[in-house]
Amino acid sequence: MSKFSAHSFAGQRALIRVDFNVPLDKSTLAITDDTRITAAIPTIEKILNDGGSVILMSHLGRPKDGPEDKYSLKHIVAHLSGLLGGKTVLFANDCIGAEASEKAAALKAGEVLLLENLRFYKEEEKGDEAFAEKLSKLGDVWVNDAFGTAHRAHASTAVIAKFFAPENRFFGLLMEAEVSSAEKVMHKADKPFTAIIGGAKVSDKILIIENLLERATDIIIGGGMAYTFMKAEGGLIGKSLCEDDRLDTALEIIKKAESKGVNIHLPSDSCVADNFSNEANTSTAPSNHIPDGWMGLDIGPNACEQFANVIKRSKTILWNGPMGVFEMHKFQHGTKTIAIAVAEATQNGAFSLVGGGDSVAAVNQFGFHDKVSYVSTGGGALLEYFEGKELPGIAAVNS
Ligand code: AMP
Repeated sequence: MSKFSAHSFAGQRALIRVDFNVPLDKSTLAITDDTRITAAIPTIEKILNDGGSVILMSHLGRPKDGPEDKYSLKHIVAHLSGLLGGKTVLFANDCIGAEASEKAAALKAGEVLLLENLRFYKEEEKGDEAFAEKLSKLGDVWVNDAFGTAHRAHASTAVIAKFFAPENRFFGLLMEAEVSSAEKVMHKADKPFTAIIGGAKVSDKILIIENLLERATDIIIGGGMAYTFMKAEGGLIGKSLCEDDRLDTALEIIKKAESKGVNIHLPSDSCVADNFSNEANTSTAPSNHIPDGWMGLDIGPNACEQFANVIKRSKTILWNGPMGVFEMHKFQHGTKTIAIAVAEATQNGAFSLVGGGDSVAAVNQFGFHDKVSYVSTGGGALLEYFEGKELPGIAAVNS
């Protein structure tokens, strides 16, 4: 049993760093996707059921200079209350100061207090110690359940830890699940281990690919970034996406993979279009012979088969980034095929972790959310984890 699950929070005020940075409709300020709030509910409920009380702190959006109504966390109070079965959610108009202290001190067992946006203070992102100390005074224990910000050394996500004794620092249930899934893939992967890396740019994914070269048996490269590799190897890519300043990097990755015995799979063919549009004329072409004036916007039928075969014989799968411009109907076939193959491998016993904004959106869009082993809520944090970096939000709890 984990430290969090084993602990009884009875009589304690738990200060929980959650990630309630949810998208809000610009005009009505209604929540358009509550996934991040839903993900924190089990942690909150466990503490309340134990007989503890809860103080929630989060950021919302990117306020520039102090309080702005559109970034106020008061907009989520009613929704949070609904997700907690109608429980009253108290609100403090400031995350520090007299109101927050008084409301936190007056909390009774089973009560919930939400603090105003942490980022109304510049000190939050600066990791200011005095600010972290003020926050720490609000609770008896600190629970970090914000995997989405675990890669930031901010006041509430990391610096605050030093004001709690090690036995009073916890991962929440969401954080525990995120960390154990990521660790399983990074350190305890059953082989064959296939990493599927897609998306627009090679430059965003170089560090993750380099780290995976030390761990994976197969790396599938799809999406726009595949064409930089194609061009680097002398292919003709028409007007496909390409980072000309990364051609050498692409060749180095291929060479390194060869020397380490890692199989790099590039899409043999592509779905090409004469325009970046859902109305474009489309055709299929070898990915290294794309005609002038055309661009690769999805992997082609041979590549789908090629990639699906690799995925289906894998025991561990990490998927970050789509295989094509899946937002447009005409170019979603490749990403959908990969989702189906990952689901099939999972059903046959593989462990599959999907993470990073766009692959999560794709898996949700195609209804495969519950057919993979774990869908991460952390975009940047998961990427940095797989780049091999130590995440401050994890280190702070463990130290
Ligand atoms: P990333 O944020 O780097 O994972 O990239 C995701 C974005 O890459 C999505 O919005 C896709 O539409 C885009 N993308 C995927 N494949 C291609 C492609 N072949 N050409 C242009 N954009 C692509």
